[in-house]
Amino acid sequence: MYAKNIWKDISEDKKKAIFDFGKDYIEYLTVGKTERRAVVETEKLARKHGFVSADELKSYKPGAKVFFVNKNKNIALYILGKKPLTEGIRILGAHIDSPRLDLKQNPLYESNGFALLDTHYYGGVKKYQYVTIPLALHGVICKKDGTVADVNIGEDKGDPVVGISDLLIHLSGDQMQKTGDKIIEGEKLDVTIGSIPLDGEEKDAVKANVLKLLKEKYGIEEEDFLSAEIEVVPAGPARDYGLDRSMIAGYGHDDRVCAYTSLRAILDVKNPEYTSCCILVDKEEIGSVGATGAHSVFFENTIAYMLEAMGDTSYISLKRVMENARMLSSDVSAGFDPLFPEVNESKNAAYLNNGIVFNKYTGARGKSGSNDANPEYFAWIRKVMDENNIHFQTAELGKVDQGGGGTIAYILGNYNMNVIDAGISVLNMHAPMEVVAKADVYEAYLAYRAFLLG
Ligand code: MN
Ligand code: MN
Repeated sequence: MYAKNIWKDISEDKKKAIFDFGKDYIEYLTVGKTERRAVVETEKLARKHGFVSADELKSYKPGAKVFFVNKNKNIALYILGKKPLTEGIRILGAHIDSPRLDLKQNPLYESNGFALLDTHYYGGVKKYQYVTIPLALHGVICKKDGTVADVNIGEDKGDPVVGISDLLIHLSGDQMQKTGDKIIEGEKLDVTIGSIPLDGEEKDAVKANVLKLLKEKYGIEEEDFLSAEIEVVPAGPARDYGLDRSMIAGYGHDDRVCAYTSLRAILDVKNPEYTSCCILVDKEEIGSVGATGAHSVFFENTIAYMLEAMGDTSYISLKRVMENARMLSSDVSAGFDPLFPEVNESKNAAYLNNGIVFNKYTGARGKSGSNDANPEYFAWIRKVMDENNIHFQTAELGKVDQGGGGTIAYILGNYNMNVIDAGISVLNMHAPMEVVAKADVYEAYLAYRAFLLG
């Protein structure tokens, strides 16, 4: 069903399914606030549904469910199909990193009676959105003895939160004259974490007191920050949004909303014809770089390992699997915002509650950087959607030359596989509080499942 509101002529059963699914997603989003946490939650759910890790799997036969975890930040799940891998697999790909602030390697300092943490922002953020909101700290501190302290401060009801200050309006005469990108500058995004001086300490006593607390709680010294990865994210749970509870407000829908719906789709698949795959990657927000990003050979390696386990070590077989694969590169779309209609061209915009969004292309300045899916492929997708009564729409990211953005689609496209961008409309993309519609979340899950079985 093309471009039709999901709530019109909806059955009572489907209404209930939408709200039930929304509840499950809120739980995942609340707990899975970083790529590492999302991998942990994903593995938990996968294991509940009979998946085992690659080194635990006894035999690679049709119906087998297996997952590979890459450096705790990237995970690939497979259900082996009846047909050989070389005849084509179905891939759902999404990213589990989100824009945020990362602590610098030497983060801690004291200034004028406060202890602060210096950060470097990660991904595209409007910096002024990160001040005067409750923030939480998530991450790991890796010590030289090989142990890892898991940091999670600001989420439990009894926890303190941290935050970044902003100038009071009374003294903002100069600040308010600045352009949006300069109102709060990158080096001003420092997190306040304490103000009590340590007894008997002369210099930097507040910092010393914070270090004492960290030592008590995590057994770390200041130098251990050098091998830490701590992410500063909005504190608190995702929750229902709107008096009708039709939407969900939360941090990091981009792109955990596509990750979760893709995951739920593969969890529901049994004995598929073609092998089902769900790959959740890291680092999309900074260009899909590094060992855990979509550019990494990790994904290709998992296919090679599976082929090897099935007795096929031919390089050509690996090439065939990649080339014959079909993929939905799932990432969020910019939902039409009634307060900012001017950035869209209304015939080619994504609307909340109209179902999963397909983007033939993304990119900027003349589609640069986009994958631009083949129409032959999209015709097949349309057929799968219509045969399964799935609400779908098509969109571009805003008006021509208004801006733009990229996804992981082109990276997998380099393998010569058919890929198209698909995803869920989001309001306030990349803001500390993003919004999606529950009906779209559920519909995307249905679409992904239909794709795996199509
Ligand atoms: Mn994204
Ligand atoms: Mn993004």
